[in-house]
Amino acid sequence: MTAAPAKTFPCLRCGRPVRRLPANATRPRHIACPRCRYLLYDYPRPAAGVLVVKGDDVLLLRRGHTPRLGCLDVPGGFMEAGESIEGAARRELREETGITVGRLEPLGFYWDTYDLPGFGKFPTMNWYFVGRWRRGTPVGADDAASAEWVPLSRLARMRAEYAWAHMPELFRDLKRWVRG
Ligand SMILES: [Zn+2]
Repeated sequence: MTAAPAKTFPCLRCGRPVRRLPANATRPRHIACPRCRYLLYDYPRPAAGVLVVKGDDVLLLRRGHTPRLGCLDVPGGFMEAGESIEGAARRELREETGITVGRLEPLGFYWDTYDLPGFGKFPTMNWYFVGRWRRGTPVGADDAASAEWVPLSRLARMRAEYAWAHMPELFRDLKRWVRG
């Protein structure tokens, strides 16, 4: 497989077109501006999500935006500066489904990648929490075209519709949690 030519995008500080430099023996992958010397490492981005369980169902979304438009996703998204991981997960759940939950337990942490047009792929660190539904009817909003309760027993058959590569592992861990 041949790698696509590296994309350029404006330096965050001075606007000159810059491109990623691959990792070498002494330095990880990074972006160095030849004009102003601004140095941007290709940091992984943290994201957080919530798995809400109601009986034998889990609350999932259909993505309303690219990337992965129409694919099955978990309420969640990128953390913002100043947020706790759990705070970000709860905010995304509220924004995308309109519901709130009580106590949450950490479920796990999963690596993945995200492809941002004009920038390219970067690693993501995805934290998930799990909790039981208590009240409220979820309604898809924000990045979610719809929100639906999906039986855990149906998840494996929907694998081709998953938005992200880490979801099979995530759902295995979820089923383990539900079984107690
Ligand atoms: Zn620059």
